[in-house]
Amino acid sequence: MSSVKVAVRVRPFNSRELHSDAKCIIEMRDNTTYITNPKAGPKEQAVKSFQFDHSYWSHQPGGPGFASQRRVYEDIGVETLEHAFEGYNVCIFAYGQTGAGKSYTMMGRPSEPEQAGIIPQLCENLFCRLGQLTEAGASSILEVSYMEIYCERVRDLLNPKNKANLRVREHPLLGPYVEDLSKCAVTSFGDINDLIDAGNKSRTVAATNMNETSSRSHAVFSIVLTQKRHDAATDLTGERVSKISLVDLAGSERADSTGAQGKRLKEGANINKSLTTLGKVISGLAD
Ligand code: ADP
Repeated sequence: MSSVKVAVRVRPFNSRELHSDAKCIIEMRDNTTYITNPKAGPKEQAVKSFQFDHSYWSHQPGGPGFASQRRVYEDIGVETLEHAFEGYNVCIFAYGQTGAGKSYTMMGRPSEPEQAGIIPQLCENLFCRLGQLTEAGASSILEVSYMEIYCERVRDLLNPKNKANLRVREHPLLGPYVEDLSKCAVTSFGDINDLIDAGNKSRTVAATNMNETSSRSHAVFSIVLTQKRHDAATDLTGERVSKISLVDLAGSERADSTGAQGKRLKEGANINKSLTTLGKVISGLAD
């Protein structure tokens, strides 16, 4: 089983694209995505194909290959949650240009149940599983944190009054962590939802104050799951700790922004640096 899985999702045309009579140059068949270059010269390859673990189509709801929010969650979220319960640290992140559908895929439109993204669906499922765990005689603790990384500065979204530049440190046993980042214990799906809402609001407030920072910042929502089981035969209690990280990355277009100056240039350079590093980590994991 591979430790890294990649899915690609096409969003429907937005109104600007519909009005300009844009043509779709993507086709998906099973897990293969074909991209046609309409400007390809006679000596160039006009159609290129790419293989992914999943290819999700969004045009024509109900049509062939159409992927609802539910289906995306069932393919990606269910397995991720399963591994977290087995004790693995897991991560799902969305990568792409601003407007490509990262927030829709990760968060969705929480006010419309059919449009809920991976994060709310995973959290809801998590509590169903915890209920089953309790029935089986185990106990659990859930703690969540939510942070934003903008220009290499880490900000606590659950406590915006916290210092604007939290430090990332390395624990000899537990690995990297963010010092002083708030961790909130939650006991219901409602608790988690309230924290996500509060965190999203502090992200939006920053966005208006800081020129739509949200598309240039990474948002990391983390859940630490601690499962405890008591073994009556030995009278010992075993603990299993795993971390689920759900990440909405900064728009990848900034990675190669050209002609940018001043603040934009700095933002671009920082996003470029972090996305390049992320690429290296993923290649390392895939190997
Ligand atoms: P990003 O987070 O990458 O900047 P968004 O998630 O905000 O992009 O998506 C841009 C717009 O497209 C939003 O209005 C969103 O609701 C819509 N959208 C994105 N993906 C889909 C999809 N698969 N189906 C329907 N609407 C989508």
